[in-house]
Amino acid sequence: MNILVVGGGGREHALCWKIAQSDLVKKVYCAPGNPGIARHAECIGIEVMDGAGILQLCRDKKIDLVVIGPEDPLCAGLADDLRAQGLRVFGPSKAAAELEGSKVFAKEIMHKHAIPTASFKVFEDAHDAHEYVDNTGAPIVVKADGLAKGKGVIVCATAGEAHDAIRQIGEERVFGRAGDRIIVEECLKGEEVSVLAITDGRTIMPLEPAQDHKPIFDGDKGPNTGGMGAYSPVPSVTSALRAEIEASVLVPTVHAMRMDGRKYQGLLYAGLMLTSNGLSVLEFNIRWGDPEAQPLLMRIKSDVVPLFMAVAQGKLGDQTIEWDQRAAVCVVMASGGYPGAYEKGKVIEGLDAAAKLSDVVVFHAGTARSGGKIVTNGGRVLGVTALGADIAAAQARAYQAVDLIHWPGAQHRTDIASKALR
Ligand code: AMP
Repeated sequence: MNILVVGGGGREHALCWKIAQSDLVKKVYCAPGNPGIARHAECIGIEVMDGAGILQLCRDKKIDLVVIGPEDPLCAGLADDLRAQGLRVFGPSKAAAELEGSKVFAKEIMHKHAIPTASFKVFEDAHDAHEYVDNTGAPIVVKADGLAKGKGVIVCATAGEAHDAIRQIGEERVFGRAGDRIIVEECLKGEEVSVLAITDGRTIMPLEPAQDHKPIFDGDKGPNTGGMGAYSPVPSVTSALRAEIEASVLVPTVHAMRMDGRKYQGLLYAGLMLTSNGLSVLEFNIRWGDPEAQPLLMRIKSDVVPLFMAVAQGKLGDQTIEWDQRAAVCVVMASGGYPGAYEKGKVIEGLDAAAKLSDVVVFHAGTARSGGKIVTNGGRVLGVTALGADIAAAQARAYQAVDLIHWPGAQHRTDIASKALR
């Protein structure tokens, strides 16, 4: 069969790398893709928000299954538009994608169905939000309702920071209409974990837990990023905790969405915090986490194509998933200056040497081809991912590969997965 992956980042590289290994696949296409993806798929220069272009591509290439990577086209209704034309799609509808597209919607679903989450209040008027902060004090968390490229959550240590955050979101409108509503939320403390599940809206197949590293610097210091590295499995998530997450978060959420006429088909991501009072949902995402996808897809032994197709057809109950018992660690290499301003176009050296290491895959995120060389083309540039007998071995192998790769200004954290070793 012919499969189209929509997107062009590290997550989509991992998806294309895994899908291309399937015996069921004749050809993999990716729109728009990147130079790393081009090794496993034919990349076609159509942007993810060009729904008409993607539909035409599906017709021209006789696509049997579309896997949509990023949240923006899902929230815009790409899955609905493709399904309306009879295509099979792995990815939720626009109505189901509201779980990420509107944090207010997600909080209301959780509140209504007693899914554990931080206490919160929603404001349409910044003035009321300011008054609320005056009464509650800090620490406190201020969130924009809509999609804000991962920057719409501000954890505020002081009331002054919370007032600044409310001003930026609600008055200066730095996130545009995503700031029409503001959530002010209790600040939780604890360890964060990501639990992803594949679901067809009825059957839920939880994946092994993973852990992301959001802040830019070692020791979780500095501003938040899209994610500087991830690993799986997570030793602190015991099998009892996994059962609790499934029962108290995944099952009621998928059920609530179906009851609300928003049947969820695709990948559901729960960002959780393990607090001293139990687990709490920080957010839902409606797609694979990036970089969690990279270690998770390296650890999945099964062919993913029957799983994705079963989701698209509503037949996931017939499927099973097999895991590589080894651990995987992904270290993100980023441009100097990221998550602030950074330069593009730096020539990347050492990719071939790193790729020669066994059990290592260098996933491309922000790269481009220029004059026969691979150059940087984004904030997060590469996701260097390795398997190992345990987390320590996977970590050592990933950093061995990172040490072979260079460009001027490149930065990475040196402590990805170290938390799991303590
Ligand atoms: P979110 O996009 O909602 O996951 O938020 C991004 C990051 O902000 C999370 O990964 C947490 O580190 C932090 N965060 C979000 N909500 C809270 C909260 N209620 N308490 C403490 N930290 C939070």
